[in-house]
Amino acid sequence: MSAAPWKRPPARRVRAIRDRLRLVYGVPGWSAHGQPIAELVLTVLSQSTNDRNRDVAYLRLRERFATWDEVRRAPVDEIEDAIRPGGISKVKSARIKSILEAIAVDGELSLDWLAQRSVAEAQAYLCSLPGVGRKTAACVLLFALGMRDVPVDTHVSRVGTRLGLFRPRAPFQEMHDEMLSITPPGQELELHVNLLRHGRRTCHARRPQCRACALARMCPSAHALSV
Ligand code: SF4
Repeated sequence: MSAAPWKRPPARRVRAIRDRLRLVYGVPGWSAHGQPIAELVLTVLSQSTNDRNRDVAYLRLRERFATWDEVRRAPVDEIEDAIRPGGISKVKSARIKSILEAIAVDGELSLDWLAQRSVAEAQAYLCSLPGVGRKTAACVLLFALGMRDVPVDTHVSRVGTRLGLFRPRAPFQEMHDEMLSITPPGQELELHVNLLRHGRRTCHARRPQCRACALARMCPSAHALSV
């Protein structure tokens, strides 16, 4: 028997998932930090490494260069040396330098103006920068500027797919669009953070802990994946 075709979950189901996650993890306390270039560089540094190594690489970069314009004008091997603890530093250093060069206008580097644009315009601009995709753009818009976007990382993607929030095997672009359309306005950060926490603590990639999962009764994957 083939599985029923996927349908976008109704708003009441999304609210029920949000409420259950809220019971387990609470509502994350947070406000936008207002530094979009820092968030952009931090997100590039986060690729293929853990949070600790990302943060060490970021701090070393900030200690070595006083401004983002100094990073932009630095030889790429000096940037690479500074961010080495973050891994794949050759790729990341070239990407950071290219992004900063693309952002610079007459030697001035700022992304603060994005806050005056629509979310779609801001996404389009960020995704036009070298190596920047929807997840990185969403991190900048949400975490730095408090704009309405929801990053879909590997945890959010896996948990959301198992809960039926996304079409099976949907590409990341589609998952970002879906996430944005189903997330109640003002709860972008809460849903992102709590789905991510659930992926890290319970809904693991290899052995999800379905029997101990607070969402098991509302999860279409619970039976198939139960360990
Ligand atoms: S029931 Fe299992 S698959 Fe569903 S969210 Fe919980 S841990 Fe993940």
